[in-house]
Amino acid sequence: METIAVKREDRFFKFSLGIKGNNENRLVAYQHVRTLGEKESQRDGLIGAFVSDWDSAKNCTFCNRLIVHIFWVKIDNEIKPFGKEHLHEALGYKSEKNVNSKKLIAELEYRQNQDTTKLNFFLLKRVESSIEEANSDYKKYNPELFSKSKLLKRGNDEYIRVSFDSEVELLKSVEFEII
Ligand SMILES: [Zn+2]
Repeated sequence: METIAVKREDRFFKFSLGIKGNNENRLVAYQHVRTLGEKESQRDGLIGAFVSDWDSAKNCTFCNRLIVHIFWVKIDNEIKPFGKEHLHEALGYKSEKNVNSKKLIAELEYRQNQDTTKLNFFLLKRVESSIEEANSDYKKYNPELFSKSKLLKRGNDEYIRVSFDSEVELLKSVEFEII
């Protein structure tokens, strides 16, 4: 699967589970590739600012045009870049009018913030140093879901048991794996 290279200057929001389209494809990230440059300000003349980084531009999967506002869509386990005007093609809609890209970016940002909060909670409060402790920790929260839960580990001393696919994806994004 393609990994998305992100620079500190970029505007970037990612939601691992993705936002489902009108088909099985999912929007997983938005990225504005940027660099530090200058822009003209009416009041102050040239000022420092983030500007689009055309050296890091990608080609839209649909039309091959170079894009710096990149919508990453997961299609059959591969993540592919699309421009705003072809996002609807990736997500299975008839026209560009069916897709509100600003709202989708806002939703990715919101989900990313939720994920960050949840991940911090997991890492600070739920990760245990043995399988036994991870099991008993899980039982405190969701005893009735235990049989459907999944056990994950990172290295040899971090274990956590969780229930939902979204939680599994979240933990995989920081190198946990299902055991
Ligand atoms: Zn395109």
